[in-house]
Amino acid sequence: MFLLKLELQGFKTFAQKTTLSFLPPKGGVSPITAVVGPNGSGKSNFSDAIRWVLGEQSLKLLRGKESQDVIFSGSEGRGRSGFAEVSMTFNNEDRTMPIDFSEVTVTRRLYRDGNSEYLLNGSAARLSDIQLLLAQANVGQRSYSVIGQGMVDHILVSSPEERKAFFDDATGVKQFQIKRHESMLKLKRTYENLAEVEMLLTEIEPRLKSLKRQVSRLQERAEVEKKLRELEHGYFGTMWWQLVDELSGVREKFGRLDIQVNKETSDVAALVEKVTAMEREEKDKDVQDDGLVAIQKEYNETQKKRSGFRDEQFKVQKEIEMAKVRAQSNWAPLPLTKIIEGIEGVTLGLKGLREMKDLDAVYARIDEMLSASTTLVSRLQRPSPEDVVADPKAIARIVELGEMIAASEAELKTLEESMKSRAVTEKQVRTELFDLQRDLRQKQQAIHLVENQRNAVAIDLARLEERQANLGRDMDEQLKELAGDIRGRRVEITVDTAAAYPEIQRLRYKLELIGGIDPEIVKEFEETNARFSFLFGQVSDLRSAVADTEKIIDELDEEIHRQSEKAFKKINDEFEKFFKMLFGGGSCSLVKMSREEVKLDAADDLDAAVAQLGETEKIALRIREREDRVVGIDIQATPPGKKLKSLSLLSGGERALTSIALVSAIMAVNPGPFVVLDEVDAALDEANTFRFAGILEELAKLTQFIVITHNRATMEKADVLYGVTMGDDGVSNLLSVNLSDVTAEASARH
Ligand code: ATP
Ligand code: MG
Repeated sequence: MFLLKLELQGFKTFAQKTTLSFLPPKGGVSPITAVVGPNGSGKSNFSDAIRWVLGEQSLKLLRGKESQDVIFSGSEGRGRSGFAEVSMTFNNEDRTMPIDFSEVTVTRRLYRDGNSEYLLNGSAARLSDIQLLLAQANVGQRSYSVIGQGMVDHILVSSPEERKAFFDDATGVKQFQIKRHESMLKLKRTYENLAEVEMLLTEIEPRLKSLKRQVSRLQERAEVEKKLRELEHGYFGTMWWQLVDELSGVREKFGRLDIQVNKETSDVAALVEKVTAMEREEKDKDVQDDGLVAIQKEYNETQKKRSGFRDEQFKVQKEIEMAKVRAQSNWAPLPLTKIIEGIEGVTLGLKGLREMKDLDAVYARIDEMLSASTTLVSRLQRPSPEDVVADPKAIARIVELGEMIAASEAELKTLEESMKSRAVTEKQVRTELFDLQRDLRQKQQAIHLVENQRNAVAIDLARLEERQANLGRDMDEQLKELAGDIRGRRVEITVDTAAAYPEIQRLRYKLELIGGIDPEIVKEFEETNARFSFLFGQVSDLRSAVADTEKIIDELDEEIHRQSEKAFKKINDEFEKFFKMLFGGGSCSLVKMSREEVKLDAADDLDAAVAQLGETEKIALRIREREDRVVGIDIQATPPGKKLKSLSLLSGGERALTSIALVSAIMAVNPGPFVVLDEVDAALDEANTFRFAGILEELAKLTQFIVITHNRATMEKADVLYGVTMGDDGVSNLLSVNLSDVTAEASARH
């Protein structure tokens, strides 16, 4: 790639359209173009134009106060221009610029109203795109492609940091540094995100822990509930089905006895009928009554009375039994709060004893406490049937009825005796009747026996039925729908109900302690947990992103280091070579400076703290560590025969020579396609201008030179010479002087 032409219009003193053409390289050497002319004719405006078209924004470097200063401002004989335009055309046949054009023209245009535009081959383009394209062709806008008038020792007076930027450009690591910079920004962004996410995590964590605890309590509750359900199922199921079995046995027994009673009662009824008939017959015979009929009547009545007593006795007995069943099933365990209340009451009463002086009152209080604690204990234990005290009136009545039955039986015996004695006399006549009557009595006695049995079974039955009803009520109340299950299906595994009951109480108490839990908590837990794991995943993603970016930066660092070390060493060597060439001896070198050396700020005393840092802080530290270490470059130059001394102590000429040596070294190591040098040889003595011209000639193998000069020695090395003149109208004119066998394509005027 090489520079083909430069076109200016309305730019500074070039009011008219002016074109500078350049010659292509010949045999690997680029022809040197020299621009000559009197002071103030507009030569430096050329180098300004090149700077400007390459995108220069610095007004200072462009020698203006405002951007419109580059537009031709007019003169006595000529009006001002409406816009300034500069185009630079490159031959790109070798595709040094990665763009599919053999010629590339870059144009910058600025109007008086401030509007400006960049064009690439005539099409509007962004400056950044143009600069990227130029950078890829190693045209450094801010570095040494254009060395302005009086700027050659700029590299000497600039700060170590500015020099470093210049060198980065020169060593070709700029592109890696741009990437590195982007990666560092990304690293910092990622790190900030990471820190933010980690902060969120630490905020969420305590809430999550508390939710987790509550949810595990909920799980515990579910487990206890399940266990309780099973136990209740077993406990009530066992009791229910035991009762069912018992009931069916007792019912069957009752049925059997009932049938027996009924059968025997009907037998007795038949017998009674027979006896009555015979008795009537006897009476009809008009047998003299010796009182037997009256005795018999009394006997029958006594018998009836005794039956009545027996029935009543059975009824009272049944009531007593039922009362026992009821008393037992009405018992319910005291709630916990009541138990505590009761115990506290007793404790308080006992404490009060100390203050009491009156002994009687003490006894009274003790009795009171005893009865209170007995009541409490009785409310804590389920009463057994034996403990239930029956109604004393009922008991008395049973005893009374027993006595009445015994009296009736004694009377019956007496009556029987007297009937027997009478029967002897009427034996013949009444044998049959007496036999029947005796049979009847015996049968009636037998019936009573069976009836007693049946009644006892009936009491059992009633008791069991009552118990079943009570149990059913308890089940409905405490078990709800489970009660239906228990009734519907016989439990397979029976449990020890005595052992199961306290366990049921214990589990119920435990549930009370656990208390109710808001089901929303579970929802919140699930949401919070999901959020936590999401953030946790993000942390690990971000950490691996950090690691990836760090790896990229490390690789770039390695590349930058490798390349810059290599280039730096080469530049140093070339610097020394050119320095010695220009000075005829002496010594010089470039020295890298660390951050500390440049800024002289104390290294942060972080090392000790590092060990205690969290992962995030360590990343932050690594970011710091990744900041550029080498931040500046120092130049040391000692002309021959002199002691090493500060750069500021060099003479003007020495400074120019040192600068030229350095710039030449950089060009030699990393040549751009062209270089504009504006009077860099101005301060040199005659001998040195020849040395400089020699260097130019050597470097022409590497780059295309456009040199603005007043020196003859320099002009002599040029292949094409452009003369710039200025007339009275303040407008620069260009004319070409053909120095070699070239046909000048350049034209002074259109
Ligand atoms: P020297 O040999 O002394 O360095 P030179 O040939 O490099 O001289 P320049 O610096 O290129 O001279 O030209 C400077 C001249 O350009 C000045 O006279 C200045 O007035 C003129 N000039 C600068 N900007 C404008 C402008 N916008 N319109 C008209 N003239 C301008
Ligand atoms: Mg000048």
